[in-house]
Amino acid sequence: MGLLSEGSPLSWEETKALADHVREHGVNQFINLYHRLKDRQGDILKWGDEVEYIIVKFDDEKKVARVALRAQDLLAELNEKEQADPKGVKSLWRPEYGAYMIEGTPGKPFGGLMAHFNLVEANMRYRREEVTELLGSDECVMSITNFPRLGAPNFTYPLAQPRPEDPLSSARSLYFPDEAIFPGHPRFKTLTRNIRKRRGEKVSIKLKVFKDAKTKLPVEGAPPGEPDVVLLDAMGFGMGCCCLQLTFQACNITEARRLYDQLAPLCPIMLALTAASPIYRGYLTESDCRWNVISSSVDCRTEEERGLAPLKNQKFRIAKSRYDSIDSYLSPEGAKYNDVPLTYDDAVYQRLIDGGIDHLLAQHVAHLFIRDTVSLFSEKVNQNDNEDTDHFENIQSTNWQTMRFKPPPPNSSIGWRVEFRPCEAQISDFENAAIVCFVVLLTRVILSYQLNFLTPISKVDENMQTAQKRDACRKEKFWFRKSSKTTEQRAAKANARAQAEAQAQANGKATLNGGGATVLENGNGNGLANGSGSENGDIDEPLTNGSSAPKLNGHAATNGSSKTNGTSNGTTNGLSNGADSDHTDTDDEENELFQLLSINEIFNGKPNVFPGLVPLIRSYLQSMEVDTDTHCTIEQYLRFIQKRAAGELITTATWMREQVLSHPDYKQDSVVSESINYDLLKRIQTIQEGKHVEPALLGQGYHSKTKTKEFIPPALQKQLAKNGCCEEK
Ligand code: ADP
Ligand code: MG
Ligand code: MG
Ligand code: MG
Ligand code: MG
Repeated sequence: MGLLSEGSPLSWEETKALADHVREHGVNQFINLYHRLKDRQGDILKWGDEVEYIIVKFDDEKKVARVALRAQDLLAELNEKEQADPKGVKSLWRPEYGAYMIEGTPGKPFGGLMAHFNLVEANMRYRREEVTELLGSDECVMSITNFPRLGAPNFTYPLAQPRPEDPLSSARSLYFPDEAIFPGHPRFKTLTRNIRKRRGEKVSIKLKVFKDAKTKLPVEGAPPGEPDVVLLDAMGFGMGCCCLQLTFQACNITEARRLYDQLAPLCPIMLALTAASPIYRGYLTESDCRWNVISSSVDCRTEEERGLAPLKNQKFRIAKSRYDSIDSYLSPEGAKYNDVPLTYDDAVYQRLIDGGIDHLLAQHVAHLFIRDTVSLFSEKVNQNDNEDTDHFENIQSTNWQTMRFKPPPPNSSIGWRVEFRPCEAQISDFENAAIVCFVVLLTRVILSYQLNFLTPISKVDENMQTAQKRDACRKEKFWFRKSSKTTEQRAAKANARAQAEAQAQANGKATLNGGGATVLENGNGNGLANGSGSENGDIDEPLTNGSSAPKLNGHAATNGSSKTNGTSNGTTNGLSNGADSDHTDTDDEENELFQLLSINEIFNGKPNVFPGLVPLIRSYLQSMEVDTDTHCTIEQYLRFIQKRAAGELITTATWMREQVLSHPDYKQDSVVSESINYDLLKRIQTIQEGKHVEPALLGQGYHSKTKTKEFIPPALQKQLAKNGCCEEK
């Protein structure tokens, strides 16, 4: 969310009474904004990350770690700089759900230069240092996905006790006191109360405990008949988790719809790769990720809507929480993979259609609008639907999905954007930066190679569940789209060339061209084109159109050499890509298109099935002129991702499990005690500060890139030294 607008929240009864009002005006506002902005063209690539952090307070004598309820006063200080110089600050800070949480983003989005990949990690480090300066020596800002003992006795500092019987409590939780909800803005407590009231009972989050030799059953607080369940009963257990998000600006609405679709199947894949939260309320669980927890933590559906009672007062059965993976694709090529029936109100859909919105977008918006508003401010009730978008945003911003399709805000220079939301927060800036840069590069490859990852929504849903299983990154398989011959040929060619060039390098011929500023955007904002006008005569090379103009048409398949689509205006409407042209659409062949692959195979490739995400990025980069520093940066990130995908490095979740299981105080009872929690967090602190290199997580020296030699992995250093690369400047 942007800067939270101030105001007075209405009571639940008042809010409920205005649900149809918000829906009606929200839909009008969307129709109006669509017509204002649908033809907006030529926005350049911009992108930025959001990292959420938890403030931890250590008691070194007692060996206890707690969450510090300090976000409000920290934000007051952090925001001072922004208020003094809104355009000049290097970071922006926003409140999050927890009174112990803050969210940091770069001061400005990054842009189209390849060299911007060098800035991400440094900016993340700057943010961490900026907060650290305001903290006491016993406090620490940590980008951990979940505080392991969140909701366990006495987990906050100052101590606060839950008041489940207090009618004034927002959460009424047995475990999570209202004091742990951010107090500085009414939105958070209001949402907590209204979601509980709409649902008709407290939220119920169930996790299977990790059963060890001496695990005591029933687990404390387990629901009747479910002795092995760790039960969590408040919004804070999910919304109080941290994540890593990314937003990209597309050149126009068509590209935004396409990116939204192509990234959606990658959400569960990235969730599995970034798994970082195996411990809840002090118990090791069977889950490695926050996703189902956060989904259940804001599940405002009534029993009727959940299918537990016959429909009487409500309109629909609703399959998912308002926090979950997406339910439909938005681009024409995605349409046939919308295989899960979408719930929406026909009248709302019809109004969108009558308002000139196409079917795919109309059903998307109508589906978002099956939800009632759960937070409404008196100042915002009456609006001008021709200008304001608050009612639309009200529903949009409380549909928390794996992807978000973000229309331009009113009266701004910002274009159509998509947000990538599945990733868990990683311990170190290095890891978070690696993931961010990887996903940004992937978007460029998707657009330039016209890659097609579309997978039926039902299979993406299945993958979401698979992704959260214990050690899914190494053990599970995921539905993934077999690549087309075209893609493989392109990749093979590029790889062969890469090898030849590596050989040439080994023979002393430097092929990487330093100095030229390489840009990631072009007139259409989509290609990752280089600005130095290098010759690229390979007609099969999808990146460039062979001209030496610095700004290139990013849709390389339109350069005339490709057998794919013939559009020449740079838009992707009606685009058919190489994958589909290789296949007839018989059901059999369609089924064969989707195979179960491991994370390793998806990232590193499987012969005759898929070239691998990282090899695709590498072949793409091969055709770019990338300066040496940037090359080093990207190479470190790609190697890290490859190793984690291969299981050579373990996920944060697996590492945390190992830390607990091998702790001397661990009693084989699944309990993460105060002392285990303390030592785990202390260890994390040394890792994020770069004082300890944890080989299982980061390999040798894969931390804290500062462009000095000591932080570049030795093997890479050697190779780079040979090529005169990565000298200190
Ligand atoms: P959210 O609504 O998801 O909380 P934020 O305002 O926190 O969004 O910002 C998300 C990210 O989007 C930030 O990293 C920010 O730098 C980036 N961003 C800002 N403007 C643009 C833009 N025009 N295009 C793409 N990303 C942008
Ligand atoms: Mg944000
Ligand atoms: Mg956030
Ligand atoms: Mg959040
Ligand atoms: Mg966000």
